Amino acid sequence: MKITDYQQSRVYKWERDTNWFCQFKDQLNHEEIKYIVNRLNKVFGLTTKIHTKRANGLCHFNRSKNAIYLARYGFNWSVVLHEYAHAITKYHKPSHGDYFVSAYCSLLRYLHPDKPTYQELSASANKWNLDFVNLRYSDYDKKLKRVVIDIDKAPKPKVVVKKPKKKGVRYKEKCQELIDQHDWLKIERDDGWESELRIDVWDYDYSELNQDYFNEGSSGEYCTWSWKQAHDRALVLIDRRME
Ligand SMILES: [Zn+2]
Repeated sequence: MKITDYQQSRVYKWERDTNWFCQFKDQLNHEEIKYIVNRLNKVFGLTTKIHTKRANGLCHFNRSKNAIYLARYGFNWSVVLHEYAHAITKYHKPSHGDYFVSAYCSLLRYLHPDKPTYQELSASANKWNLDFVNLRYSDYDKKLKRVVIDIDKAPKPKVVVKKPKKKGVRYKEKCQELIDQHDWLKIERDDGWESELRIDVWDYDYSELNQDYFNEGSSGEYCTWSWKQAHDRALVLIDRRME
């Protein structure tokens, strides 16, 4: 028989209604989350795994895989503890039932940085009419009581040194620099060639003196087919002026 998760939506509403709820807050990094889960696994004798990359946008506990999947919005205490409460209570039905709420409250009480008290937790849970087993004398409380999780002891995230992108020399920019330095120098993309890049490079003064300058078609010295070529050609023209 399938047991309906009768208080699931009330659990969600209850969480949202509290101060300790921190969905969407970016509090923990991958290493810290892993550290918390590993420490809790020792306490509860579990082997729950944690995945922070393959969650497909949804935080959830997968019972058959015994794994917590965390999407980005769950990189914080309340979501991690919520999902871990599912891991602890995976044999209890329904999944957001009385044992779940109790386990979740104990985790919050001992591990959440806000340290909500059982009094506060039970008062808020009662406000939403949630069923839960006794908080103070539960097995969860017994196990968590002596647990200290010092998040500063989590391994520091590996600093990924991004290799600087191989700097493709941006010849288009270098061409512009040359144009700025030499007012006679012209480097212009030839729009008459739609499918191919053709860049004309010429000495304006020189072309003024030679009426037929542009009559040479593709074999003209002004004709180049890449920004690198254009840049090389411009340097030739500049050298010619120096001579
Ligand atoms: Zn849940």
